[in-house]
Amino acid sequence: MKLKKLILKNYRNYKNFEYNFKSNKTLIIGKNAQGKTNILEAIYYLCALDSNRIKKDSELILFNETSSSIKAEIEKRGMNFELEIDFNLGKNKILKVNGLKKPKSKDFLRELSGVNFSTNDLLLLRGEPQNRRKWLDMAIFQVYPLYFEKLSKFNKIRLQKANYLSDSNSINPLMLDVFNQQFSVLSANVIYLRKKYLIELEKIAKIKHKAIAQNEDLKICYKSITDDFISIGELSELIYQKLNEIKDEEIRKGQCLIGAHRDDIDFYINEIDSKKYASQGQQRTIVLSLKLAELQIIKDKINETPLLLLDDVLAELDSIRQNYLLNVIEDDIQMIITSVDTLAFEDEFLNNVDIVKIKEGSIVG
Ligand code: ATP
Ligand code: MG
Repeated sequence: MKLKKLILKNYRNYKNFEYNFKSNKTLIIGKNAQGKTNILEAIYYLCALDSNRIKKDSELILFNETSSSIKAEIEKRGMNFELEIDFNLGKNKILKVNGLKKPKSKDFLRELSGVNFSTNDLLLLRGEPQNRRKWLDMAIFQVYPLYFEKLSKFNKIRLQKANYLSDSNSINPLMLDVFNQQFSVLSANVIYLRKKYLIELEKIAKIKHKAIAQNEDLKICYKSITDDFISIGELSELIYQKLNEIKDEEIRKGQCLIGAHRDDIDFYINEIDSKKYASQGQQRTIVLSLKLAELQIIKDKINETPLLLLDDVLAELDSIRQNYLLNVIEDDIQMIITSVDTLAFEDEFLNNVDIVKIKEGSIVG
């Protein structure tokens, strides 16, 4: 699949941005804070309906404006599609495919797929659990769009239950039980799919990792109520039991203490916890392997070549990892890369890319 055109209106620091992608490799060059990441963020938003830099969509709207939009023309299996997302302050976003309003999120998510690899991801292991969960969730949306609805439903019940626990002076045990039953089922759905995806990701990431670091064995573990991979029914039962055990504590603290929103992902190299002990280089290799595995899974699952968005990472990787990355990516994968300058790139690479220069939210030169 190809991204042929991107149009941004009042998006972040872009009043009006329009660009026709000419070739399979585009290099966006600009000094710090000019808007490079904003472009990749907009493209990835079309792929995953979220951004790892935001809490609320309103952050994406240009300061002092009330609406914003991302539009794109894409090509898939020889056909062209138009995608659009409109953001309006205080309202839900509106999705459009070929001008038709309001497809379901899961249908919109099927249109464009991509992998976003940014310098922020290099901190994935050292960052907060919520960053790891968000990365994982957005990766799953790419291959299993139905997961978007399951996660939304879980988040809804989690918020309702949290509100109930924090607002009510007297908690009705029957009411709490109703919340807990629904919470258990929806949480189990989310946890099951996250585990399933990670098992698949681990298989591929292990191989990618070994290709860069021969003596290292990568292991990925989803940390939840149980480490075992059990059915949704069994998971749901386990969560429900645990919720009953900690009922009084949840009421006292006014919080949802267990569930998919509290989970984390652990990474091990040769059985050693990488979050604590891996060197910076080892962490980079892990993240690089994860991203390549994400890409592979999309290719295998949906039979399309996803977009690869590389935000500043090439300059951050040493030449071994940089060459490895550029060499393993097939030519038919569309890459959109950002960098502050062209210094990190070899001439041969630069001769084959379109260079777009960005300054203060506009294309220059
Ligand atoms: P770096 O090289 O440092 O990563 P960058 O070119 O990737 O820089 P971006 O992260 O794209 O920069 O951000 C560019 C600018 O966008 C920042 O100065 C930021 O203040 C601005 N910005 C972010 N959100 C908004 C918004 N909602 N409205 C207007 N400007 C915004
Ligand atoms: Mg940036």
